[in-house]
Amino acid sequence: MKRFVLPFFAILIAVAIWYPGAFRQLPDRKRSSGIKVVASIFPLADIVRQVAGDRAEVVLLLPAGASPHTFEPTPGQVSELGKASLFVQVGAGLELWADKLINAVGNSGLKRVTAAQGIALITGEEEHSGSDEHEEETEHGHDHGKFGNPHIWLDPAIVLGIVTKIEEALIEADPAGEDYYRNRAERYRREVELLDKEIERKTAKFVIREFVSFHSSWPYFARRYNLKQAGVIEETPGREPTPREIKEIISVVRSSGIKAVFAEPQFSASAARAIAENAGAKVLFLDPLGGDGIPGCDSYINLMRHNLKIMNDAMGPGK
Ligand SMILES: [Zn+2]
Repeated sequence: MKRFVLPFFAILIAVAIWYPGAFRQLPDRKRSSGIKVVASIFPLADIVRQVAGDRAEVVLLLPAGASPHTFEPTPGQVSELGKASLFVQVGAGLELWADKLINAVGNSGLKRVTAAQGIALITGEEEHSGSDEHEEETEHGHDHGKFGNPHIWLDPAIVLGIVTKIEEALIEADPAGEDYYRNRAERYRREVELLDKEIERKTAKFVIREFVSFHSSWPYFARRYNLKQAGVIEETPGREPTPREIKEIISVVRSSGIKAVFAEPQFSASAARAIAENAGAKVLFLDPLGGDGIPGCDSYINLMRHNLKIMNDAMGPGK
């Protein structure tokens, strides 16, 4: 018995020391540049962390379980931004709350990195080409209609360019770390390329190629891997679908042989359950955001693998 007690405590202490370093970085004196980077959503925070390593402190604004579409920043987050060198955001209208926040902070040294800048965004009509419902979108002030769809990080090929943007911004903020950032960015891009190949291989075998998602999170993913987002439950995330919209989605699910309706952990699944029950499908959860401490979704790459597995369960060839 005694022989196990010591290693057990040693591991416990090691974990306790190491674990907070995953996000609330206690920077290594030699390597840390002292710069602080604030990211809006978890996937971006993780990508920054992969490139910045232990040279920068990375702070995530959006708490796990929150949606950037409905988020309200707190006063504590204003103070985080006051001390930051970089604010990394998606853009494309996803973080409309960020402008106000940044104005309130008045940190003139803060540089903004907008992942969507320079990317041709998918617009309302292209999001799910299977339906003709989109003339109505502008009527109820749909965000994606005005800005283009913001969910670019769910296409790993687009993420390769985002990694480069983050790499350049880190070098500008901390020139002494150039070699360090370049090496890490290069290595991480190779990992993302492998992820892309893996998703390509697995999705190529999907027997069902259309899906219904909770909100329009997956059009970039669908385009990359030749799938079709045939419908969404909530056109505007946080606004419950009307009975007419529910009826239409049920008919999409029935006519395309869809076996599962995808809900999302950041929103209520009740509409998805009602639709699935009516259409004879089941409800599975796709997570576009993930977060530290969410099993299997605690890095961008793990999150994408998790979603691939869920999709494979619903659309793949089976075992
Ligand atoms: Zn979204």
